[in-house]
Amino acid sequence: MSDRKGVNDLDQPLSWLPETWAETLGTLGEPSYRGRQAFEWIWRHDARTYDDIAVWPKGLRARMAERYPFRRVDEERVRRGADGTTKLLLRLADGERVETVLLPHDYGTSVCVSSQVGCNMGCTFCASGILGRVRNLNAGEIMDQVAAAAAANRAPGGGPVRRVDLMGIGEPLDNYDHVLRFCRLVHAAPGFNLSYRHITLSTSGVVPAIYRLADEQLAITLAVSLHAPNDALRQRLMPINRAYPLAKLMPAARYYFETTGRRVSFEYAMLADVNDDPGTARELVDLLTATPMPCHVNLIPWNPVPEQAYEPSPMARVRSFRDLVQQHGISCTIRRELGQDIDAACGQLRHREEADRRPSRIRRNPPRFGAEGQSG
Ligand code: SAH
Ligand code: SF4
Repeated sequence: MSDRKGVNDLDQPLSWLPETWAETLGTLGEPSYRGRQAFEWIWRHDARTYDDIAVWPKGLRARMAERYPFRRVDEERVRRGADGTTKLLLRLADGERVETVLLPHDYGTSVCVSSQVGCNMGCTFCASGILGRVRNLNAGEIMDQVAAAAAANRAPGGGPVRRVDLMGIGEPLDNYDHVLRFCRLVHAAPGFNLSYRHITLSTSGVVPAIYRLADEQLAITLAVSLHAPNDALRQRLMPINRAYPLAKLMPAARYYFETTGRRVSFEYAMLADVNDDPGTARELVDLLTATPMPCHVNLIPWNPVPEQAYEPSPMARVRSFRDLVQQHGISCTIRRELGQDIDAACGQLRHREEADRRPSRIRRNPPRFGAEGQSG
């Protein structure tokens, strides 16, 4: 699936780091502090056009608008849940839509961003996979989700963005270059200035890209979507397991820990009578003790997706699973269920909208892996 020309260009203004702004403005004879100003006004003061950069002379705004145009995302829909969760449906310049979710925590707000329009990984329990991947998001579009979330959170009771999770629609490691640039953008000082430790990247297990990310040595928190402790079951849930079975995935997770010193999280969506019985919990313990490293297991109560033939595990079963894992000395918690009333789970709102709007888009073909699945 080819990305539309231009859209996935790393060299467009919203994907520029402060130094690129400074260099570009330097070619127009401007002093380097103008680069910092551009970055700060776009990302902290919500400049939607060059004309909004109030500290710039008019002539400079006009020259930049002519040579380096950019377009911010538009907020199409906002849904606020009873528990403080907010979900944004955002429209991109080419009319595609992505979701961004704000989650309130005791430490402040976290923002869950999408990395692709749709997803090609085809996990059988997920709404994002149903539509397939339409295109990658560019770094600026991922960054603009954080900005839109920060703006939506400025209402009374809201606060600054403290963490970013690459856990929305899409497989971040299938869009490596833009996701990495995004991490650098959100870390940059004149913008959101988040430490890499406060960025979590969740992957279905694109093994070569896990090694590559480890070698960047950025202290980003890695979450690996495991969902099953053996290949037969994991393959049923996640087609990517055929390309990267557990014997390849687990050493990659360990390498990530050894290289970055960061404890890896394993995500595990609880599906009734599929992966939630005590025997499977013991298998999970065996798998994790066979690859010794500090890790954490995050049990996710499954958010029902009508098209997928699963049921969520009863809460009592989820708790027993957690207790069994913990009894073996492995850190394990149950993720809080947030935003259930507003379809806050991965890909659900976009999927619902797209299915109503363009039913022909629903993919009937099985997902493909190969060169593009490994593009990280
Ligand atoms: N593609 C990446 C990141 C996005 S999905 C990945 O798969 O890791 C973020 C997490 O939500 C993953 O662990 C994914 O397996 C899980 N998930 C997807 N659909 C879900 C659902 N309906 N209910 C609960 N968790 C879900
Ligand atoms: Fe894609 Fe992640 Fe959903 Fe799997 S769980 S289809 S990798 S978004």
